[in-house]
Amino acid sequence: MAFSDENRKIFQDELSNLKEAGLFKEERIICAPQDSEIEVVFPVGTKEKRVINMCANNYLGLSSLPEVVEAARKGLDHRGYGMSSVRFICGTQDIHKQLEDKLSEFLGTEDTILFPSCMDANCGVFEAILTEDDVMIADRLVHASIIDGMRLCKAMQDSFKHSDMKHLEKKLQLHQDRRLKMIITDGNFSMDGDLAKLDRIVELAEKYNAMVFVDDSHATGFIGKTGRGTHEHCGVFGKIDIITTTLGKALGGASGGCVSGRGELVEMCRQKARPYLFSNTMPPVIVEGALAVLNLISKTTERRDKLENNTNFWRKGLTDAGFILKEGETPIVPVMLFNAKLSQDFAKDLYDLGIYAIGFFFPVVPKGQARIRTQISAAHELHHLEKALDAFINVGKKYDILHKTKQEVIDMYGQ
Ligand SMILES: *Cc1c(COP(=O)(O)O)cnc(C)c1O
Repeated sequence: MAFSDENRKIFQDELSNLKEAGLFKEERIICAPQDSEIEVVFPVGTKEKRVINMCANNYLGLSSLPEVVEAARKGLDHRGYGMSSVRFICGTQDIHKQLEDKLSEFLGTEDTILFPSCMDANCGVFEAILTEDDVMIADRLVHASIIDGMRLCKAMQDSFKHSDMKHLEKKLQLHQDRRLKMIITDGNFSMDGDLAKLDRIVELAEKYNAMVFVDDSHATGFIGKTGRGTHEHCGVFGKIDIITTTLGKALGGASGGCVSGRGELVEMCRQKARPYLFSNTMPPVIVEGALAVLNLISKTTERRDKLENNTNFWRKGLTDAGFILKEGETPIVPVMLFNAKLSQDFAKDLYDLGIYAIGFFFPVVPKGQARIRTQISAAHELHHLEKALDAFINVGKKYDILHKTKQEVIDMYGQ
């Protein structure tokens, strides 16, 4: 069939509806390696502008680190560009096995299997492990990729209110009779930057004979004293049955993900997970880069510690200046503005002052909870954060929202 005018019209209408609703996403074009300072073109067609980056997942500042780039180059030289195969046909090199072992060691698990991305890991893991006799009980704010993975699995689905342990316990009681029960949560929730109560979750799992699944994509490498993740932070290292995480954020930021955990569960994924069986092997360049990253952060916590100091400086600076933050301790620092338009205007004014941060509003966050989500990196130097803080204060003054209560801000701008 041809793409007829009528067909085209359907999509043109849908796209203009998105634009009218203010939901159309426009990409800013970066003309530089990922870093704390980048050259950006926005809007398209305008001149490049050098800005401080406050919205990358480059938590440890490793995305463009020369040692990592060098290791990736070594991978290219020694193991080639691509594998042209899935893992189980002829796509497994020695370095893939090394990276899996290294991840198991770092995360404190029995075994690990790589996926092309954490999205793929989450889409494959539930179906590979669970059947219609089982139940998945997920926190209501889990990442979209987990929701998609659950949809692909025949096990019964249920949820508990965000981080509400009483509610989770009720659900565990309700589903006592299921063959397997799996509690599913993010480690660090990416919109609010709050951590799952993994100590309590593990306690409940033990009480009700349930398994625990944690997606630690926004934690691996920097949460916990040695950066192992939310399980380390919560004192339950070694007690999580399945961890999924990404190589696309703190761990160098290229791409790739994994399922790590109990040996039998990981083996089930090797046998049955469809994104593993039917999608190409991670390229050697990225495998060697990721190995270099893991070696680096296993040796020293220097970057993770710098990130913590930067985060404390940023949170205290914004709080003292009179902004309303989502409480927390992670490098995801949401500055609450409540009104969607205000969040967009605020981000634009920041950009004019050389600060790159994005305003989030419904449906990415709940209605009336619009915000600028800032993300701190070990690549930020004090002067970056000071300049960014100055810009936030200037724009905050312009809109007269400093040292105001939530209600006062809402009274001025609406929710
Ligand atoms: C980013 C993210 C993913 C997706 O990771 P990719 O490797 O980019 O596919 C999955 N889960 C969570 C919680 C994430 O934040």
